[in-house]
Amino acid sequence: MNLMYNSTRNVDNRVTASQAILKGLAGDGGLFVPERFPELDIPLESLSGLSYQETAYAVMKLFLSDYTEQELKDCISRAYDDKFDNREIAPLHRAGDAWYLELFHGATIAFKDMALSILPYLMTTAARKNHETHDIVILTATSGDTGKAALAGFADVPGTKIIVFYPKDGVSAVQEKQMVTQKGDNTCEIGIRGNFDDAQTGVKRLFSDRALEEELLRDGFCFSSANSINIGRLVPQIVYYVYSYGHLLSEGVIAAGEPMNVVVPTGNFGNILAAFYAKKIGLPIGKLICASNENKVLYDFFQTGVYDRNREFVLTSSPSMDILISSNLERLIYHAAGGDASRNASLMRELLLTGRYSVTAEMKAAIKDFSGGYATEEQTFAEIRRVYEQYDYVLDTHTAVASSVYHTGFAQDCKNTPAVIASTASPYKFARSVMAAIDEKYSVMDDFALIDELHRLAGTPVPRAIEEIRNAPVLHDTVIEKDEMEMAVRHFLRKE
Ligand SMILES: *Cc1c(COP(=O)(O)O)cnc(C)c1O
Repeated sequence: MNLMYNSTRNVDNRVTASQAILKGLAGDGGLFVPERFPELDIPLESLSGLSYQETAYAVMKLFLSDYTEQELKDCISRAYDDKFDNREIAPLHRAGDAWYLELFHGATIAFKDMALSILPYLMTTAARKNHETHDIVILTATSGDTGKAALAGFADVPGTKIIVFYPKDGVSAVQEKQMVTQKGDNTCEIGIRGNFDDAQTGVKRLFSDRALEEELLRDGFCFSSANSINIGRLVPQIVYYVYSYGHLLSEGVIAAGEPMNVVVPTGNFGNILAAFYAKKIGLPIGKLICASNENKVLYDFFQTGVYDRNREFVLTSSPSMDILISSNLERLIYHAAGGDASRNASLMRELLLTGRYSVTAEMKAAIKDFSGGYATEEQTFAEIRRVYEQYDYVLDTHTAVASSVYHTGFAQDCKNTPAVIASTASPYKFARSVMAAIDEKYSVMDDFALIDELHRLAGTPVPRAIEEIRNAPVLHDTVIEKDEMEMAVRHFLRKE
């Protein structure tokens, strides 16, 4: 029997996995969630012997049950190949008392590659299975990393077009250069004068605009999403938690059944939700530690049970976490409410109207495995320096937020349980901040000189993704106001 997905706002809005991937959003404002949680159907011990690709199949077949074995295996082998510069795909690096799960070995050197390398294959397979004849238009808001990873994944994929909106002044120099140099006739990158929340809210509005949808259908297009609101993003992210458990088993760090804790630098709540789903299918995860930067709306939520976005938006050195409306939290709220879609819908309505909602004590108890922490800019920089000086290992700013949260708030009490810290970006992607953290004297150097200096310090090769943009020409330079997004979509789709 196929595992079905329903909307977090209406359980009668049900679809198969491939339909959920095609649609992206549920259409009623909600997100698709699995109707029930499947269970890992292989013994935990056996995880230690599986390759990344084998682990991916073992996990993804549980969630994407309407894909055939051959379809899934094709998607997996095309996604996780030598685009990754490490054969393990997601290696674990030990430094001191923590294990850094390196999720940045893909084409765009951030963890978004883990899912966006496979999403285009899952989506085109889904289109075929569901006899979709329209071209799929991927609409995506990015805080910096999703954009490039989605562009790289969908560039020149037949039957698709991709439009990415990013906050013009809210991404790092390398992130912006990566996007504006993207090749591919079917790609479009647009800067907006606003922040990530503006971009994400604008994209959600486009998705729920029925008139626009009908107009585009007539022109041969349908929308989907590459953001982590798409279940096709979330499911591939469950894989690396299962894989890291296998790695700890094979190193003899734990015995089968013993727990590991996970620490995740969080923005839109996709990555850590995937860890929660891993736990739900039977992976022994103890604590789920949600690390925030100074935009600590999630920390406050886990402390108090009140989600309140009414606060100043802070631009930090970990831009991919500069978010006040964490979309995927809606899925956790839905699960915490015991699958009560109308309760969830009313909380989300409150969020839209007042910017705030609070959960009941009962719901709070249902998510007690989560703990929150946050790191200030100063703590983040100090952590980069500490780990570099003690272990000769250079963290990027996002990973450093998580590492700081773990070491200041949790390490003491969690000595006997190994901590896996999701390492979400290569330090090369945020070289300016990383180098400034190590020594202020670097602040006068230009971006590429810094990269060469980082190479000298870290002793790791400069990633291909960086070499490619060094001299690449800028191909996209559109900047618009945040209320011009619909016009921009029409313009791009009509111009051919
Ligand atoms: C996207 C991103 C995050 C946040 O992940 P979410 O799934 O949105 O919580 C953290 N670090 C980096 C480098 C990212 O690109």
